[in-house]
Amino acid sequence: MPHRPRLAVVGRQGSGKGTQAARLAERLQLTHVSTGDLLRAAIAAQSDLGRRVAATVERGALVDDDVMLELISEQARAGDWARGGVVLDGYPRTVRQAETFLRALPDVGLDLAIELQVPVDDVLARMARRRVCPVCGTVVTVDDPSVAEVPCPLGHGPAVRRDDDLPDAIERRLAIYERETGPLLHWLAARSLLAEIDGTGSPDEVAERVHATVTSRLAAGAPHPK
Ligand code: AMP
Repeated sequence: MPHRPRLAVVGRQGSGKGTQAARLAERLQLTHVSTGDLLRAAIAAQSDLGRRVAATVERGALVDDDVMLELISEQARAGDWARGGVVLDGYPRTVRQAETFLRALPDVGLDLAIELQVPVDDVLARMARRRVCPVCGTVVTVDDPSVAEVPCPLGHGPAVRRDDDLPDAIERRLAIYERETGPLLHWLAARSLLAEIDGTGSPDEVAERVHATVTSRLAAGAPHPK
């Protein structure tokens, strides 16, 4: 079987990484795995994992690296990423996560990480307008940021502001991104595993940029660290 890509999408909160990871996965026929969605689903289901991480996620802090590795390893085995490839959305977020991922899952590895670059002022404006259906995760962008909730387009009930999209948590999440994910970006770049992409503009424009960059980098033979 030809090598199926293992990709990761990285970006500040509100950079559009969820949207772009989903679109890229669909276009390349890869599994899309959002760690944020997995954690939110575990919290909603009140599973063991959900109870362990609920307070951390709500605060906008990072879940422990070892808990994340356990979750990712389980998903990698169940989804057979080693053979089918994957688009990781929100993982890895720290240098330690990247190192332990490559060490624990040598048969999966990582071909390329895409960083969506969007200035802080832009992501703040985007997040103020983001509403999410707590049942299906569909994201709705409202025109007026003072509107608290809107109907879920799939009919589940109101789409609301995520607890971790409230101003205090947003500030904490942006600070964590600079502190924890900043070094990861250097780590990835030093291994020729990083593609920096302008994440401003419409979702269609960004999707085109992402697809063009990924296909040309993969064709050029991005390294595949084991
Ligand atoms: P996201 O939807 O990617 O913004 O993730 C929402 C929240 O889930 C984050 O603010 C963290 O609390 C948690 N989370 C998601 N991915 C990770 C990760 N790789 N490491 C630690 N925490 C994570």
